[in-house]
Amino acid sequence: MPENTNISNYMFYMAYLNRKLGGFFEKQAPYIKCKKGCAKCCQNGEYPFSKIEFDYLMVGFLQLPVEMQEKIMAKVKKIKEAKSETYECPFLFNNACSVYEFRGIICRSFGLMSINNEGGLSKIPFCAFEGLNYSNVIDPKTKIVSQEKFDKLGVKEEPLAYNVSYSFLTSDEIEKNFEIEFGEKKPLISWF
Ligand code: SF4
Repeated sequence: MPENTNISNYMFYMAYLNRKLGGFFEKQAPYIKCKKGCAKCCQNGEYPFSKIEFDYLMVGFLQLPVEMQEKIMAKVKKIKEAKSETYECPFLFNNACSVYEFRGIICRSFGLMSINNEGGLSKIPFCAFEGLNYSNVIDPKTKIVSQEKFDKLGVKEEPLAYNVSYSFLTSDEIEKNFEIEFGEKKPLISWF
């Protein structure tokens, strides 16, 4: 597939995904604490990125002022030298993403509870155990939704897990439906 077609189909998919995720976040509003200035999900992770996601991120990177690009590359160098598996994302500055419109799929979907495609319990965002998303309805001991907490809240909308795992959002099915090639997937830092 020509590079340009892949990027434009991917941009179409991002517009679709933003609308879809926006609807889920809206529905789950009683449980969501995400707000501007909270960047817990960008402070310590691996951040899986496929080739197309990284290419799109680089489109955003190249639009940044040169001094900013240099700061990002200096952070990348430090992370690579530290050889740590988890790290603060090099694109994070003052708790804000410097390439927000171009961020990856994991960055967009983080914060919701997701369906575990391999079966078993739903995946709960780690910030639930730090007093943030879903912390008002999850029992920290059992790590599942507490009926008692839900009843006490008295809200109508139930806490739900959605089909938003990274593997699903970058699956063969999505590739086929949106005519995208995700390409290789690896941690963000490994793309540098
Ligand atoms: S690309 Fe942006 S949203 Fe994604 S982890 Fe980095 S700083 Fe956070």
